[in-house]
Amino acid sequence: MYEVAVVDTFFATHAIDGEIPHGHTFRVEVAVGGENLKKGEILIDFRSLRSQLREITTKWEGKNLLEQDIWRIGFPSTEAIAAHIFQEMKVAVEDWGLKLLYVTVWEGDDAKVTYYE
Ligand SMILES: [Zn+2]
Repeated sequence: MYEVAVVDTFFATHAIDGEIPHGHTFRVEVAVGGENLKKGEILIDFRSLRSQLREITTKWEGKNLLEQDIWRIGFPSTEAIAAHIFQEMKVAVEDWGLKLLYVTVWEGDDAKVTYYE
């Protein structure tokens, strides 16, 4: 079994119930797993994995997450961000014949949330 992960960051503002909106450079790690290597002896191209992740996070770059449609209901907590990225990544990763293992989102150096199914 191989596990391949990429890390990327985006800056956005958020707040959960009662908080004052504040910004974080969110750090996101996405990991995929599989048994079989493809041509070139790789599980998945790092660039493919990263560009799939960026498709999701780019639309949030520099934005207030409270104003994004997906969070009209509920709050963009770090937990919610991780779960949302997981759901969006899952489709593409399964199309590649791989398993999405987890999505970890850091709010800073000392606080992170991991979501997996
Ligand atoms: Zn925060």
